[in-house]
Amino acid sequence: GRLPDWRAVDGLVRAAHERYRTVEDGEVADYIPILAEADPTAFGVAVVGVYGGVHEAGDAGQPFSIQSISKAFVFALVCQELGHDAVLERVGVNNTGLPFDSVIAIELHDGHPQNPMVNAGALATTALVPGTHEAERWAFIIDGLSRFAGRRLEVDEVVYESETATNQRNRAIARLLQSYGRIERESRHVVDLYTRQCSVLVTARDLATMGATLADGGTNPLTGEQVVSAEVARDTLAALAASGLYERSGEWLFEIGLPGKSGVSGGIVTIAPGKGGIGTYSPRLDSAGNSIRGQRATAYLSRSLGLNIFASD
Ligand code: GLU
Repeated sequence: GRLPDWRAVDGLVRAAHERYRTVEDGEVADYIPILAEADPTAFGVAVVGVYGGVHEAGDAGQPFSIQSISKAFVFALVCQELGHDAVLERVGVNNTGLPFDSVIAIELHDGHPQNPMVNAGALATTALVPGTHEAERWAFIIDGLSRFAGRRLEVDEVVYESETATNQRNRAIARLLQSYGRIERESRHVVDLYTRQCSVLVTARDLATMGATLADGGTNPLTGEQVVSAEVARDTLAALAASGLYERSGEWLFEIGLPGKSGVSGGIVTIAPGKGGIGTYSPRLDSAGNSIRGQRATAYLSRSLGLNIFASD
């Protein structure tokens, strides 16, 4: 099946925004100081169909740092370079059942990071980015993320500085992985690249486009560019289904029935394979780090557009 016709999707995106814009549950992340300054009332919803239609409501054009959502797309780009087996062996695809910045998860598995959607696995993934020097590795990441979004993306330098000044925990995780031989490069360079990738500015509309690219077998429906192969898109969605919403991934799949990825700045990207991408932005989070309005709006769209991948009709 496909998405319903353009008008129906447009109306449902506006309805999703309208229904949840007054929800005030949850807290804005503050462990990265600059994130605490986000406007808690901001709320954007966007859907991009694989046929190229763009639907949006509210603050869908407001920029925010991508944070953890970068993990999904950098994982896809690295899979494209290294292939299914190498990534499975190096990073893994099982949910840790523990918070995104857990050190215990690493220790429990003899230094194996478990999955690319939490910090340990994301650092291990970023350590696999090809290139002979840091500038080349950074170009691989920013060019790749930009191809997913269909426009040139940029780093928010203020977010980058704020996170660099406070990312002792990520530095510790990277060192720990290095001690287990899971990161073979100088760990502080890996943390720097990772911090930069988390500081890239996107909008809910960008997230919907990036999601639609994975939904469309790796081809960006707005630019027509093949960013990753259909196999890589498929594998990335499988990894997202297992771990995209941190330790709440099971509940998310049970309620929404689609692969997605959230980040602590308040974004969520959701993918309806073969149909399109959903992007939401609202900075108030639940205790796992998932946007509350974003989860509600996405659940509404999944139900009303009939997107649940486990449904038989
Ligand atoms: N840059 C953040 C960190 O590493 C990303 C966390 C997230 O969005 O889950 O702490």
